[in-house]
Amino acid sequence: MYIETEGIILKQVRTADNRRIVLIFSRNYGKISAGTNIPEKSKSKSSLALKPFTYGKYELFKGRDTYHVNGAEVIKSYYGIGENIEKFMCSSYILEFTEKVLSENVPMPSFFELLIDFLDVMERRSKKFLLMATAYQIKALHICGSGPVVDNCVICGRTDGISAFSISEGGLVCSDCMDNAKKSDEINDSLIYEVDFGIVNIIRYILNNPIASFEKLALDEKSLNRLRKIFTHYISYHLDVKELKSEEFLTD
Ligand SMILES: [Zn+2]
Repeated sequence: MYIETEGIILKQVRTADNRRIVLIFSRNYGKISAGTNIPEKSKSKSSLALKPFTYGKYELFKGRDTYHVNGAEVIKSYYGIGENIEKFMCSSYILEFTEKVLSENVPMPSFFELLIDFLDVMERRSKKFLLMATAYQIKALHICGSGPVVDNCVICGRTDGISAFSISEGGLVCSDCMDNAKKSDEINDSLIYEVDFGIVNIIRYILNNPIASFEKLALDEKSLNRLRKIFTHYISYHLDVKELKSEEFLTD
């Protein structure tokens, strides 16, 4: 069956038998991997459309459980992202994160839009790349249904008396629920952060606003480091994406 979809190229890989596979985050079918015979090095429009970071339109042949790319056309190449090494590393980290988070063949249209918004903003941005990457991750977690609860106690729902941010519970916890957890010995201190309403407000802002509006969001280095520490921990706990190859190269 021939199908057509917009998509973003997450990566290209070469298999042991020298076949080339592209990993596409497609708008209509979610993450798919597809083989292709389109030459890698040629300057043709189709080859360019198979490079990572490209937003394109793809003509695919769908077999029973395989895809093959027959034709490809660039809608937008994010050239600007490759012009700055820090921006490039940060964006590569986000593609890798996205690839790990997505399940194959599950359409995620709002996640797809989020990635396009992120790439648009990153292309224009000249500094503070890590803040954008962190904001993207927070919004992505939310879309996947794994985001932290930051409007009330995640256990009992009350909005007052919040005393901690619990990685394992997935959000804010009030003092009563904290005391109960301590009594029943259900608490693992390494998964608890003292609540910092400055950080909580930043998370709320990120969740309630489109990523394009973050161009004006300013965050001092200390808060950004704290936000990253919490979310790196949160992501590794909830999503099992502990080792992203590109993470060690991140700077802001
Ligand atoms: Zn509670």
